[in-house]
Amino acid sequence: MRRVFLIAGHNGAGTGAKKYLDEGAETIILRDDIVDWLSINYPDLKVITDRNRDNLTLAGGLLIWLKSIFQKDDICLDLHFNASNGTATGTEVLIPDNCSALELEGATDLSFLISNTLNLKNRGVKAESQGQHGKLAMLSGFDCENFLAEICFVDNQKDATNYRQYFYQLSEAIGYWLIKTANR
Ligand SMILES: [Zn+2]
Repeated sequence: MRRVFLIAGHNGAGTGAKKYLDEGAETIILRDDIVDWLSINYPDLKVITDRNRDNLTLAGGLLIWLKSIFQKDDICLDLHFNASNGTATGTEVLIPDNCSALELEGATDLSFLISNTLNLKNRGVKAESQGQHGKLAMLSGFDCENFLAEICFVDNQKDATNYRQYFYQLSEAIGYWLIKTANR
């Protein structure tokens, strides 16, 4: 079975996009709830997380640490929330420009699962250079299987409402996806 890295893309309240949801806080809350669900429902899965003080937006210690321990077969899921003009809605999953078959298939599956669980639009899979952040540090230069999920938009009220309403179903859906992907 593959190892799983589950990374909160930000490190606490106010460190990400913010309106109806605070990305910096929510990525940590969601990461921890998925870890709880996995520890109860699938204790054999090896899950490695970042620490709340890590800041992925700086090419600092976390990236160096991850790079030193990532193996080719590992799965890495980086959690983020999107922001735009208040009307954009839905879920998208980013993968490296030169993606593997597993990354493409896994991201297609994950984007559908999250959007379906939240009852929001499925914006589908994007290559990292198509994303609004351009080249993303998490996806570049790592050997492992890389996924970056933009769960929904923090500045869309319906996205935020649905995220709150379906939070536990979302943790479970991502948990199942991690188990399935780790077993591929
Ligand atoms: Zn982010």
